[in-house]
Amino acid sequence: MPASPPSARWDPWSALRARSAIEFRLDPIAALLGGGFYARRGDQRAIVLDPALDRRRRRTALAHELIHDERGTGCDAIGAPRAWAAVIGREEASVDAEVARRLVPPGELLAVARASAELGDGLVAWQVADEFDVDEETAARALHALARSADSERAAPPDPMAAASMHPLAL
Ligand SMILES: [Zn+2]
Repeated sequence: MPASPPSARWDPWSALRARSAIEFRLDPIAALLGGGFYARRGDQRAIVLDPALDRRRRRTALAHELIHDERGTGCDAIGAPRAWAAVIGREEASVDAEVARRLVPPGELLAVARASAELGDGLVAWQVADEFDVDEETAARALHALARSADSERAAPPDPMAAASMHPLAL
């Protein structure tokens, strides 16, 4: 997959501008809910972020709340029945995974990883954070997902054609 130019990367701020129905606010109240929250009641949709978040965290938190908006999943409802906790936990994990995929596209990350491997360097989270303008948590999540997909490729049964070309048969 060719790396897309930086302008083609998903930008949560443009996505927010495109969803004019969402009320956006910076309010310290969001700190009580982990830095940001998304709420919806009927047609009313709101995203609130903590103004104390640094620029990258704000960008990542906005991406997270926008993905909740797309999936129609709510905020981490206070007072929700305890049995929901596991469901909410799974949803949060998949939203975070989607944030990592959008902001650190796997194809582009692979290209960066290959380039740094050529330089003899392992790629670490802060470098990914710099390259893709995300917080280190998201960078680490993206690196982890890349490592997992590389592992599953290695574990896949070998392609017999590829194997044959690596070990040509004497005919
Ligand atoms: Zn969430």
